[in-house]
Amino acid sequence: MFRKSTAEERIRFYREEWNRRDVPDFIMHTLSLREFGFDLDGSGPNCRYNQFMMAEQLEDFLKNKAPYSAYASVALYEKPSKREDWLKAELVFDIDAKDLPLKPCKCSAGEVCEKCIEEARVVAAGLADTLKNDLGLRNVNFVYSGRGFHIRVFDDSVMQLGQSERSQVINYITGATVPPQMTMNLGYSRVFRERAARAFERLDESKVTEVVKSKRVVQKIFSEREKILGIIKSGRIEDISNVEGVGLETMKKLLGQIAKLNSGLTDGKVTVDTKRILRLPSSLHTGVSMKCILVRSLDSFKLEDAVPKFMREGGA
Ligand SMILES: [Zn+2]
Repeated sequence: MFRKSTAEERIRFYREEWNRRDVPDFIMHTLSLREFGFDLDGSGPNCRYNQFMMAEQLEDFLKNKAPYSAYASVALYEKPSKREDWLKAELVFDIDAKDLPLKPCKCSAGEVCEKCIEEARVVAAGLADTLKNDLGLRNVNFVYSGRGFHIRVFDDSVMQLGQSERSQVINYITGATVPPQMTMNLGYSRVFRERAARAFERLDESKVTEVVKSKRVVQKIFSEREKILGIIKSGRIEDISNVEGVGLETMKKLLGQIAKLNSGLTDGKVTVDTKRILRLPSSLHTGVSMKCILVRSLDSFKLEDAVPKFMREGGA
């Protein structure tokens, strides 16, 4: 699993398995307004400014070139082949299993395994709940990218947002800023408590020592883990005075560290870039030999649905 595919496998995938029905409607219905980008041979996505007026043209391109990677813009343009006359752009979030700030596995940098992909799935589901329940967004879609998940939002209310507004949405849904008032029942205060509690449960010593220098205090934080978790969940951080050996200053450092880690749950550069190209659902992620696919429901997502035929048939 998760090995690179060969050039022959890529060709086989596009000739025998790729089907235009696997391209989501949200791409097909706006096909001629999107810029397509390709990495033809693994050297990077240098083949840009492509426009396809009809699905047949996209199909011909993919079957003939069998690209290393295929991408489509999150933006719609009047002139996508020039990347000009920008109309609007989806609000997107990229949750990459290899870049999760707190990984549940022993993967080294750049690697993924089933465990961290599962963690990315749960993170994506949590972020999507906040988009729907707190921000009232309705048209929230999911794509398995090959190494994690994309959340793609199409509500009219977000398609015109600029960079700074998009970056505020990231801060809100990931819990990337410590709120001035932590005990409010609703709104960002509650989102932060939830995200912070989840991060604290997954925190290891190395992440705490980055901000708390005293070994004795670090040990105390872990021996009083349950109490501190309760304080984070309630938001009453002054209650830390009941935990001997851990002061308010330490608690604030801890929350700051958690907020910083939370900001890494998604790749912020992807969200704020309103001209970004994202991996095309239906295409092959050659680096890991997985299909990038539309996910109807994150709850019922199965990794095996993304395994291309050549990997099932003893290609591994
Ligand atoms: Zn892993």
